[in-house]
Amino acid sequence: IPALDVVELKKTYPNGVQALKGVSLSVQPGDFFALLGPNGAGKSTLIGILSSLVNATGGDARVFGVSVLRQRSAAMRLIGLVPQELNFNLFEKPFDICVNSAGFYGIPRRVAAERAEKYLKQLALWDKAFDAARAMSGGMKRRLMIARAMMSEPKLLILDEPTAGVDIEIRRSMWKFISGINAAGTTVILTTHYLEEAEQLCRNIAIIDHGRIIENTSMKQLLGKL
Ligand code: ADP
Ligand code: ADP
Repeated sequence: IPALDVVELKKTYPNGVQALKGVSLSVQPGDFFALLGPNGAGKSTLIGILSSLVNATGGDARVFGVSVLRQRSAAMRLIGLVPQELNFNLFEKPFDICVNSAGFYGIPRRVAAERAEKYLKQLALWDKAFDAARAMSGGMKRRLMIARAMMSEPKLLILDEPTAGVDIEIRRSMWKFISGINAAGTTVILTTHYLEEAEQLCRNIAIIDHGRIIENTSMKQLLGKL
């Protein structure tokens, strides 16, 4: 079964904007998948639906066979989301930020502490784990968002423009970490409007524009066409 199967997904906002006009796409387990599109294309709406922040108005989306529309809490256990905006408390310690987020999933404290160490190490944040998060650089804060999302050990990790607004060096360093997570077995989907980012990282790609998928292919094939 696909890691993600989106079928004729539609979203019309109350003001009448048709943000998704019947989007279908499929992501295989283990894939590293890019959703590329300009501002206003519908990327955030799609991610909002996958993470239960936005209600779809038609169609379905299944994560490893579980519908995010009809089996919401089961689907949420399979998905990790890294939103664009930093949304942790800067006065807390990275270790506590991770452990507390695991509490939300009912993960026992001892397991949470082990995982926090594992993922903070994997994202090269362990030496900052017990200082207030505000002491970290911009790139580190973004990596902390990823470590936190990994605490529930999601089968599908979704990153919404993970490198938006960071400079090229930090971007490249983040690419390495995100690739590492994929290499360790997690299916990864990211949205981006940098083709270079998709090109460097992803095996498969969908391009969304005005609420429709206009291309869905392997990165290799797409680059052959350009
Ligand atoms: P992207 O993430 O690709 O920039 P969005 O999903 O944010 O695209 O937006 C798709 C379209 O839906 C845009 O026209 C946007 O203005 C509109 N839109 C997004 N959120 C809302 C909302 N809460 N209410 C009304 N329209 C919205
Ligand atoms: P992004 O950069 O992620 O695409 P946007 O700037 O499109 O984000 O949207 C920021 C926020 O404003 C989102 O919560 C989105 O749902 C909301 N939004 C976007 N467009 C509209 C709109 N036309 N009407 C109401 N809310 C909107």
